[in-house]
Order: sequence, then C-alpha cells, then structure tokens
Amino acid sequence: MNSTTPKLVDWDAIASLLAGMDIITEPTQIAKLSLDYYHFSPVLQQKLNDKRGDLVVRPTSEAEVLRVAAVCVKYKLPLTVRGAGTGNYGQCIPLDGGIILDTTRMHAIRWIKPGLACVEPGVKLAAFDKQAREIGWELRMAPSTYRTATIGGFIGGGSGGIGSITYGQLRDRGNLHAVRVVTMEDQPRVLELRGDDVQKVNHAYGTNGIITELEIPLGPAYAWAEIIVIFDDFMTAARFGQALAHSDGLIKKLISIHAWPIPSYFTALRNYLPERKHCALLMIAESCLEPFQDLVQEYGGQVTYEKPAQEASKGTSLAEFTWNHTTLHARSADPAITYLQTFFFTLERVEHLYHHFGDEVLMHLEFLRANGQAIPGGLPLVRYSSEERLNEIIHYYEQKGAFIANPHTYILEDGGMKTVNVEQLKFKERVDPYGLLNPGKMRAWLER
Ligand SMILES: Cc1cc2nc3c(=O)[nH]c(=O)nc-3n(C[C@H](O)[C@H](O)[C@H](O)COP(=O)(O)OP(=O)(O)OC[C@H]3O[C@@H](n4cnc5c(N)ncnc54)[C@H](O)[C@@H]3O)c2cc1C
Repeated sequence: MNSTTPKLVDWDAIASLLAGMDIITEPTQIAKLSLDYYHFSPVLQQKLNDKRGDLVVRPTSEAEVLRVAAVCVKYKLPLTVRGAGTGNYGQCIPLDGGIILDTTRMHAIRWIKPGLACVEPGVKLAAFDKQAREIGWELRMAPSTYRTATIGGFIGGGSGGIGSITYGQLRDRGNLHAVRVVTMEDQPRVLELRGDDVQKVNHAYGTNGIITELEIPLGPAYAWAEIIVIFDDFMTAARFGQALAHSDGLIKKLISIHAWPIPSYFTALRNYLPERKHCALLMIAESCLEPFQDLVQEYGGQVTYEKPAQEASKGTSLAEFTWNHTTLHARSADPAITYLQTFFFTLERVEHLYHHFGDEVLMHLEFLRANGQAIPGGLPLVRYSSEERLNEIIHYYEQKGAFIANPHTYILEDGGMKTVNVEQLKFKERVDPYGLLNPGKMRAWLER
C-alpha cells in the first residue's frame, strides 16, 4: 500500500482488524479521498499535492467509529476525518498518512422538530434542507457547496455562508447546540458536549474528536426569490448591498456583490450580466419583493433576473456563484486566480482597497452579521504572481484594518483564529493524548 506514514505499518493486518467494515485500499481511490479543494491556493498546492492516507474506512455507525478509534490508538496510527472533502485549506488532507475516516455513510437524520434537528455528521446539507422544509424549517446557513458538503464537515471546517446575513457565523453562540464526540483515549468513548462546550470541537478541523452526532438549530423556511441587480458603478452596488443588509424589514438570505470583470466569469448567467456592469446576486423572501423594488430604485439599479421560489430547484441556483463558488468560476476562466477571505467592516475600507489594487485584486463582497452588525466581508479575487506578493497584499489589507482569515495555510490558528484556542487545546490533551487526530494542523499542540 501507498504508505506515507513514517513507521512501518502492516496495513493488511490493520484492514483485517476492521473486517466487516467498508474499507478502501485501492490507491487511486485513496488518493482521491486524501485531498480536498486545497488547490484554490497556489501556496497549499505545492505543500499538499503529494499527501496521501494509507487506508480509507467508511463507518456506518458510532459503534464502528469506536472500533476504528480503538485500532488507531492501539497501533498509534494517525486518523483524519473527512466529510465530502470540499474544504479549501487541506483541512482533511492527512499530513502523516494513516487512516482516513470518511463519514459519508453516516447520514441518518435522527429527528427534525420546529427549530431544531439532530443528525449524523455525513448528512449532506441540501438533502437535509429538503426534509426540514417539509415541516416549514430550513438550515440557518450553508456554504455554497451545500449540494455536496456534509453537516459534520461544515462544522469541522467551515465558517458560514448563505444565511449568515441573518444568523452570523457557525462559531456564534446558538448556531450549534450539541455534539457527540468519539475520543482517542486508550479506551475510546463517546462524550456529549452541550451549550458553550460545543466550542471545544467547533471548527477544530477534526483535531480533537470525531463528531458522530450533531444538534443544529433551524430557521423558519421562506420562499426565496433569486435576483440579479446590475449597477454602473461598483461602489453604488456596494452601498446598495449595505443598505439592503441594514434593511431590517426586508427578509434576505444572500447579498453577494461583484465588481466587473467578476460577472464575466459567470458564463451561465451571461444573458443577465451585461459588459462592464457590476452586480448583486441576492436571495430575498418573495413576500418582500415589492418594498425591495423601492430600494433598487433608490440606488439606480436594474433587475435583470428574477427567479421565483417555486422554481428554486430548477436550473442554475444563484447561490452557486457566490461565496467561494465565485472563486471556482473565476479559476475555471483563469487558473492563475486565487482569493482572500476578508472582513472589511466598513465601505470606506472597501472603497480604498478597491481602488488601491485595481485589476490585481477584484472585489467580491458578501454581507454578513458579525457581533450583531451587518458588515461587508468578502472573498476578493487575487491575480496571483508570487507568494511574496500575496503576503504583501494580505499585509496591506491588515494594515488598513481589514481582517484576513488566511486561506493559504492548513494550520488552524493561522487561518481565521489567529490565537491559540486554549479550550480546544485542553480538550485535545484530554481526548487525544497521543496526538493522533489530523496531526500537524493544530499549532498549539505542536508547540506545547
Ligand atoms: C467552491 C467552494 C465553495 C465554498 N463555499 C464555502 C462557504 O460558502 N462557506 C464555508 O464555510 N465554506 C465554504 N467552502 C468550504 C467547504 O465546502 C465547506 O466548509 C463545507 O461545509 C465542508 O464540508 P465537507 O463535508 O466537504 O468537509 P471536509 O472538507 O470533508 O472536512 C472539513 C473539516 O472538517 C473535519 N470534519 C469533517 N467531518 C468531521 C467529523 N465528523 N468530526 C470532526 N471533524 C470533522 C475534517 O477533518 C476537516 O478538517 C467552499 C468550498 C468550495 C470548494
């Protein structure tokens, strides 16, 4: 087998210890299940390209996860959890080989009741949403990869997305109620974390526990219309976005603003995106469309596309051009493009950075709620020339007061967190004393 684990391991013997479980040993499949969307970053591309696990296990129950954990602890094998593998920073790429625990066969929805649901980690976000909507509720927020991504992966490695304009980010109190976690102690066991304790494993890249069940809050389901509004001037589009974000009477799920030439990358929407116009891609509750039109008029925008909620499941979804899907479309037109993840906080800062970098950094804003304020964040596109230049751009953004959650590192703390999360470190010391979970990703653990 294709072992990158430094010590000699008899992987056939390990596979036989896991007999009866769904195991993958075929090298090309292992290679595929070892990687994610790390290649959005030219920096990570170089660092992670050759990383591979040695064996993939696809448990179907918590009991099977406990079995895998016990084998890994006994033989001191690295274990990296994987959902759908759509993360962007190599979160689920095993740096030291070992076992990849793929959760996609743990896809039971335990229960859904008004406002709350309980699911296994491998449930896909869109599949869940469909069921929740049947009783009038929906996920509070989802990444633009909602069709493929898992709920466990979103909690383990995501941050927010469509819906964040109303509900903030995953890390905000109340956006995750409870988790069950399998430990990597000598005798692996299941712990239940509730309330603030969930933060011990929330967005920890699977470095300190294997989540086997989650309780997630829901929002009331609205009939969402999808709308494109175009503008002659980028800053007018940005101001319109901010005004919509501040319009508490208008119910919305998505405010995504794109400076030209980004709209030129959205080939499937070409008919609605004229040359040199800047655009807003929006999801607005259908019942709010009449007052919404007045806001469009106030800012001199022009609606070029309006898809009623009834047709939401048909054809192209605007959400799949927003958040990091914007980068995906841009990269298919020009693979040299990469991106940043930014909180601008103010439109003044957006305006300065927009003019300062011109065509080198293309403005893509996503409005979201952060600490109770509706603010401009975004994933600006960068025409990549070198790592040094990329770091200069990041440095300039930070100097000007923007916050960068750096997507060009696989180290947990160097991304959005910036500081050591003592709670997460202490929890890891307790539940993963041998440091077997996703090794190399948590700086605090490496530098203890
Ligand atoms: C085109 C594109 C657009 C994207 N847009 C967004 C966006 O809008 N918002 C956003 O937040 N992200 C976005 N992402 C990143 C990613 O798609 C999401 O965060 C997604 O929710 C990850 O889910 P996944 O199942 O693919 O997780 P994976 O990539 O498989 O895993 C993510 C992390 O979670 C850990 N993990 C997975 N399952 C468990 C578990 N059961 N227990 C413990 N740890 C676990 C993994 O070890 C890994 O560290 C985007 C990515 C792409 C490629």
